[in-house]
Amino acid sequence: MNIFLIGFSMTGKSQVARRVAHLLGWDYFDTDEEIEKEAGKPIHQIFAEDGEPYFREKERQVLLRSCRQGKVVVATGGGAVLNPQNREFMKRNGMVVLMEAQSNTIYKRLSKERIIRPLLLSPNPLERIRELKAQRQPYYQFADFTIQTDELSINEVAEKVVKRWECWSLKPKVIVETTTEIYPIFIGCSILPALGTILLKRGLRGKAILISDNMVFPLYGKEVEGLLKEEGFEVLSFVVKAGEGSKELNTAMAIYDFLIENKVERGDIIIALGGGMIGDLGGFIAATFLRGLPLVQVPTTLLAMVDASVGGKVALNHPKGKNFIGAFYQPQFVLMDIKTLTSLPQRELYSGWAEVVKHAFILDPPLLNRLEKEKERLKALEPDITTEVIARSVALKAGVIREDEKERGKRIILNYGHTIAHGLETATNYERFLHGEAVAIGMMGEAELSHRLGFLDREVIKRQRELLASFALPTRCSGVDIEAVLQAIELDKKSRGGEVHWVLLKGIGEPVIYPEVPKADIIAVLEELIV
Ligand code: NAD
Repeated sequence: MNIFLIGFSMTGKSQVARRVAHLLGWDYFDTDEEIEKEAGKPIHQIFAEDGEPYFREKERQVLLRSCRQGKVVVATGGGAVLNPQNREFMKRNGMVVLMEAQSNTIYKRLSKERIIRPLLLSPNPLERIRELKAQRQPYYQFADFTIQTDELSINEVAEKVVKRWECWSLKPKVIVETTTEIYPIFIGCSILPALGTILLKRGLRGKAILISDNMVFPLYGKEVEGLLKEEGFEVLSFVVKAGEGSKELNTAMAIYDFLIENKVERGDIIIALGGGMIGDLGGFIAATFLRGLPLVQVPTTLLAMVDASVGGKVALNHPKGKNFIGAFYQPQFVLMDIKTLTSLPQRELYSGWAEVVKHAFILDPPLLNRLEKEKERLKALEPDITTEVIARSVALKAGVIREDEKERGKRIILNYGHTIAHGLETATNYERFLHGEAVAIGMMGEAELSHRLGFLDREVIKRQRELLASFALPTRCSGVDIEAVLQAIELDKKSRGGEVHWVLLKGIGEPVIYPEVPKADIIAVLEELIV
């Protein structure tokens, strides 16, 4: 990959290219300099003696060999963009940055030069600059970014180019592949500023509609608004009240009204910035408004990162049931900045680890070893290890989704711990436990059931209990009505065509889907779990 600087004369392309090459430790290439070197005469002489078509052909040839090795910053001549082959070549081989300056600035800069440029020979040079710029403007549109250079020093422009490059070259940690979509997941520390760049790189250029809640928006929403505006996006923000209460049809209706008032069209982008509640609500809006708008998930809780934002389930709650109204709708990409987890209340953070522990027990013994070994560094959110472990957990979920996007088969194994968890959540009206806490207790119950049915060694149950406890997660609870939990499980069974899909464990990484667990065993386990 390379960086191409395009733009009118006197926008600083050559000097900035040199500086950027120095900052990145790359090579530097100036097409005009190269042509002059080969011809042994300056450009205005080539124009005068050999004609413009000759020069343009030389320019094309020089550009083609400018960056064979990669990692080259190429300063191009002002007219290089006129040739469609040149534009195509630059677009395919790197990041294209348009250096912009107002006609007045260009005129002032030209006048200060010691050599006389052909542009200045016209009777009204400023008017000529305006004319030429207007003619060329359509050819500059293919640039990935524009930097307005009027008020900036060469160093400042170069630093902006380098920052853009860092975002541009960010590699996804996981690729999710479903029957309908393939999309990347970016995971890292302090990568939120790359959001606009990734949108542009993926060809998403409409209005950006930020959906967030009133806890997350003051922390990150303003920053995201600012950085998207800087990339040239029109940004509209809709902030809902934090909490599960907002995940319902009235809120969705208010958002639809807002989108209609603001003339949101197909191609405009919904960005869900927040926890799983916002991911589900924003995703639902994206799935349904105008029969589908591009969706970008920017999860800010650990639960949303490792679970809710990956896999395309989006939903609203109905008074009669959680997530009753929903769809499968995959995002264009997901961006997880683990720095955002540092502002998360500790209980919310630890709750998210339950899903990671779940992935380890059902799918990945090495991840389990890693969690046991690195738990303290993970709890402290050390960037490298946290990024790696989240990426692994997400990759495991992505692997399951690749095989079964719509939960008709293998995806059911992701519900390990969830049958009892939903029972506990329903029996306590979703007010007592965070989801991960209920899942942790549910995993203990379902591991115990696996043991009772003769599948699982006690040793595995002990490991699971110790690991969950080390992330400050509950492994049993008190004061919950066992009858209410049983009823909720029965209700679940009815809504799933008369079968509860119990996910049990035969060993670490060996889940089994078990349809009928005897009621007596369920009661016995619940009596052990709920003291
Ligand atoms: P949440 O979105 O309600 O967030 C929890 C709390 O943390 C909220 O008050 C929120 O404002 C706050 N918060 C979020 N990010 C923060 C940050 N970085 N700093 C400080 N505060 C922050 O809850 P959740 O646990 O993230 O998600 C639960 C929701 O996810 C439920 O609605 C559940 O149904 C859904 N979910 C969906 C899926 C799926 O596959 N779609 C999977 C699991 C859960």
